[in-house]
Amino acid sequence: MERRVRRGGRVRNLMKKDLSGRLFRSLIGRELERERNLFQQTFELAAIGIGHVSHDGKWLRVNRALCDTLHYPAEDLLGLGLREVTHPEDFAEDQALMKSILDGEISSYSAERRYLCRGGSHAWVHITVALVRSGAEPDHFIWLIENIQAKKQAEQATIAVREQYRSLFEQMPEGLLLLDEELRVIDHNREAARHLEIPREELLGMHLLDFEAVEDDEEAEMKRGILEESGRIDFESRYRTRSGRIIDVDVSIRMVHLLEGRPGYQTLFRDITEERQAAQQIEHLAYHDQLTGLPNRRLLQDRTAQAIRDAARRETNIAVFYLDLDHFKDVNDTLGHQAGDLLLQTVAGRLLRSVRAGDTLARIGGDEFVVMLKDISNSEVAADIARKIIQEVGAPYLIGDDELRVTPSIGISIFPQDGRDAEDLIKHADAALYQAKRSGRATYHFYTRELHERTVERLKMERLLHRALEKREFELYYQPQVDLQSRKIVGCEALIRWNHPAMGQVSPARFIPVAEHSSLILEIGEWVIRESFRQAKIWQDRGLDLKLSFNVSARQFMRPGELLDILRDAIGNTGVKPSNLEMELTESLLLDQQGIGDALNEIRSLGMQIALDDFGTGYSSLSYLRRFPISTLKIDRSFVSESDRDEDDATMVKTIIGMAKNLRMGVVAEGVETGSQAILLSAYGCRIAQGYHFSLPLPLQEFETLLELQQLPT
Ligand code: C2E
Ligand code: CA
Ligand code: CA
Repeated sequence: MERRVRRGGRVRNLMKKDLSGRLFRSLIGRELERERNLFQQTFELAAIGIGHVSHDGKWLRVNRALCDTLHYPAEDLLGLGLREVTHPEDFAEDQALMKSILDGEISSYSAERRYLCRGGSHAWVHITVALVRSGAEPDHFIWLIENIQAKKQAEQATIAVREQYRSLFEQMPEGLLLLDEELRVIDHNREAARHLEIPREELLGMHLLDFEAVEDDEEAEMKRGILEESGRIDFESRYRTRSGRIIDVDVSIRMVHLLEGRPGYQTLFRDITEERQAAQQIEHLAYHDQLTGLPNRRLLQDRTAQAIRDAARRETNIAVFYLDLDHFKDVNDTLGHQAGDLLLQTVAGRLLRSVRAGDTLARIGGDEFVVMLKDISNSEVAADIARKIIQEVGAPYLIGDDELRVTPSIGISIFPQDGRDAEDLIKHADAALYQAKRSGRATYHFYTRELHERTVERLKMERLLHRALEKREFELYYQPQVDLQSRKIVGCEALIRWNHPAMGQVSPARFIPVAEHSSLILEIGEWVIRESFRQAKIWQDRGLDLKLSFNVSARQFMRPGELLDILRDAIGNTGVKPSNLEMELTESLLLDQQGIGDALNEIRSLGMQIALDDFGTGYSSLSYLRRFPISTLKIDRSFVSESDRDEDDATMVKTIIGMAKNLRMGVVAEGVETGSQAILLSAYGCRIAQGYHFSLPLPLQEFETLLELQQLPT
């Protein structure tokens, strides 16, 4: 307070020197008073903290803002010095700077300081310090103190966020490169350096093209265009690492603005080398046959489709050879699968040698190969090649110590006349192969008009069968199964009939194979199951103990789950007792279908019986019979019908009956046409027989009449 008076006095002295006269003096006195008040108010009300500090560091005068910042009442603060309010780590510097000012080295300074508030907390402040001199002598320091606590906190928060981003950037699993306008690396993360195998310091300043491995100019130009247009681009590329390894990368580039608005590029990349390799491997697996490494059916179809497009444009021909090995099964059966595989590989090698580079050789299953030949000028050329292949493939093989001979048969179709798409061409070549086999094997056969007509016929039949399902043109006939001792009907086989309004009754031998070609057999088969179960239930309700056999096709077993659902549903719907039901299936089913055992066990667990149809004609193996839950063998009619004339057939019949007994299976003889056959069968120990001798398959009413009268021939 004392100093303030002194300062006022000094001004007054100054005035005295310049002005004279009483009036002025009094005027000036008032003016000074006003100024002083003004200063006082300004000092007090300033939003910034202001303090006067003696050169030994004591607060001489403090304003309200300063008190607010430090949370001290003025009286308390005036009792303290700088030392008490300055953070101990900052204080020494203030002292040094104050000395520099006192020594005249600097006139003022600004700095950021931590000030200690009352109660122990501290506040960030920005100080500006200047010295007021009295004449040449230092009088006091003026201390301007701006509270920057809020700003400082925000700043620290920003730094914390930035550090978070930085560590995120560092930890990203992708490689990250920040490139400048010239595509030079100005920043990068750890992964980027690791993938490129380049030390981090060296990576800085490198050019993208120092490690981007591909890139022709045109492509680079295109990419730049896209990038400029849409601001980002994603693509796959290849980078060369420091060690020279090429890696496949999935790159994503975004255009960004660097400092001062200069463009830069944020490049994100992921090493996809392994993914790519896996994908390629999968693709190879999907398009190639594992045994021979040749293209499979799918790739064949793609290539043929491509060749057809070319050939159509250039008006040239394509030949498709469908080839299989005659009696290949025998090789497998006698020498084993390994020998069979080896043979197939050798055949593949010979076939490859017989075709030209642009042709496609595919293995499409088992012993079946397809050759697709481009630019075949006429069918004579195709025939020449076919003869050459037959000769080449037909030459002897040395498998282990065995010399083997297999001959191929070939079916040929030609684009454009034999089919317009790949599927048709292959299908027609297959049809022609069938013809080649029929005309004596080791030969080739062209797809012909006649085959064509048969195909057309088949397609027509398929259409009609669809309609037949809708129009309920199917009917079940029942053929009795007779107990040879009691001469009573103990069961029947349900056999489907198709009554077409114009064609009359169509034999299942004609339409079932057609239906089996498509999914029609599934719907027809389902109808047979539901219809026969319904009928069986009616007989059960009448108290008749009659076994009912129904036929299923192999194709119905391709989705065993669906078949089982249908069976369960039909049993549930009709309420039939399953123990009277018997499913007939052929032996080949046991060989062809995987997981068939589970399905058959399921069927048995539903309570049904299972019969093997046409037994003796197929590849019968005792192990199969043991493995599967078969309840009945049906001796094929070809043996039965000759059994009273042909000794071999008689032996066959006898053997099957004995085998069934051994395996504790039932046995039914089919196709019994004469009384002598019936007697013979009975003598061999066969109990049950079925055949024209007893009855033809009959429509329901006639069958029921027969059942009632039981008038059977002896
Ligand atoms: P399959 O299962 O072997 O049926 C026996 C066939 O032999 C029947 O021909 C029957 O009429 C005939 N047959 C019966 N006794 C004699 C005889 O003493 N001598 C001669 N020569 N033949 C006799 P069908 O009814 O024409 O059936 C032919 C084939 O059609 C059946 O052979 C079976 O494979 C198939 N089939 C018939 N109905 C169905 C069915 O509902 N579903 C399926 N998937 N196939 C069926
Ligand atoms: Ca049958
Ligand atoms: Ca049969």
